[in-house]
Formats: sequence, structure tokens, C-alpha cells
Amino acid sequence: MKIKEINAKKILTISRISEQMYSLNPYIGCQHSCKYCYATFMKRFTNHKENWGNFIDVKINSPYLLKEELQKAKRWEVMLSSVTDPYQSIERKYALTRECLEILLKYQFPVSILTKSPLVLRDIDLLIRFENLEVGFTITTDDDEIKKIFEPFSPSIYERIKALEILHRRGIRTYAFIGPILPLNPENLVKKLRKIVDFVYIDRMNYPKKVINLYRKHGLESYLNEDYFYKMGHELKKFFNLEQVEVKILF
Ligand code: SF4
Repeated sequence: MKIKEINAKKILTISRISEQMYSLNPYIGCQHSCKYCYATFMKRFTNHKENWGNFIDVKINSPYLLKEELQKAKRWEVMLSSVTDPYQSIERKYALTRECLEILLKYQFPVSILTKSPLVLRDIDLLIRFENLEVGFTITTDDDEIKKIFEPFSPSIYERIKALEILHRRGIRTYAFIGPILPLNPENLVKKLRKIVDFVYIDRMNYPKKVINLYRKHGLESYLNEDYFYKMGHELKKFFNLEQVEVKILF
């Protein structure tokens, strides 16, 4: 793993995911190294020759920049993060996400966190003090064997569910991002999530070319077609609705 400390020029960027939202990415690169990762396009801007997952640029001036930029920012929601995981393991050492949260808390900016890591629990003392904050976990399947194929270095599904449960019990608004939909049992996944999330987003595999060979290698091709995503999206929605959990399908 090549780790480099850098000074970024800017830390808040206007999000392309949603209107009136900023993205805040304290790192470039991601140690989770998911096979379907959409963020690999970042390599085009940074000239990294290493494979995605084998490098991290640490934006060590993130808190300093954030303090400066918040002075002129609109009161939009700040999303941590859009092209990295703000709680990947390097965050244990640098605590940049934590420092940024401390600043956002001071000004009570609305915050949305999306992660795959229970390291977010380290910052629960800050999270509970926000007036407007939500924490989401990406959970793409209920089957850890499937997870290992597509997300080899990310925390287990059990660890994510446990973390969601703890956050939810502490009164934090929580959600699950089921995307991309990997092979899964919808009833089983809904059973695990129904009491610990306030809402759910569902998305299909948006970059099938990246993973087609991996699906073939494991005999999973049938889980990569349009019908599967539509069927599974609607099955998940049906089971969540029975549990009174709000669902948004993004495709
Ligand atoms: S956790 Fe997100 S950013 Fe990190 S490798 Fe996986 S998909 Fe990409």
C-alpha cells in the first residue's frame, strides 16, 4: 500500500449525486478495494499507476481547508464521502474524518455519512450532538461469501449490521444503501435490517463491464442482467414496505 500525505487545494466540492449537497473526501483511494468501485475514475486525475486499493493519498490539510471553506459555503448537506470510504482503516491513524466532523458540528452543518466500516462508532460522541445527521451503511448482499468475492477487504456484513444497530439505538438516523445489488436473499436481508434503519436506497450494478469476468468466474452471470435487478429491487421494496421502512429505488 502506497500512502502519501498531500496538501489538497480544496475540500468541499458540489456533489453530482444530489442537489444542494457538498462532498467531502479526506482521502483519495480506498483500502476496501471493491471490485465494482465507481470511484476508480479518480486515478485519471491523480496519475496513480497502482491498482485501485493499493494507494491512498491523505489530504492532511482537510480540516484546515474545511474551516476556511465553510465561511463561504451555503448551508447544504455535507456528504462524507462520495469517492472514498471516510472510515477506511487509515482513518484510525489520521482521524481526518473525525476532525472534519468536529468542525461541521461547531457550525451544525447537516451531514450525511456513508461507509462500510464500524470505525464510525469511534465518533459516536460527535454524531449524537448533530441536529441533522444520518449515517448509512452500504450493504450489498446478505451473504458473506458473495461479499468476499466483490468486496474482499471490507468489514463483514455482521459487523456493519451490528454498527447500524448501535447507531440506531443511540437515536441516530440510519439507512442502508443496497447498491449495487449483488446476489442476495431479499427476505433474509430485510429481516436483518428492518428494525435498525429509517430508510433504504436501492441501486443496480451500474458498471457491469468492470465485473463481468468476476461474475463469469464464479458462475453468477444470471445475477448481472436487467431482469434480476428489477425483480430484486421490487422484492426488496415489497419486504421493506411490509415493515413500514421507506425505500427509494434509484434506477
Ligand atoms: S468502499 Fe466505496 S469507495 Fe471504497 S472501494 Fe468500495 S465502492 Fe469504492
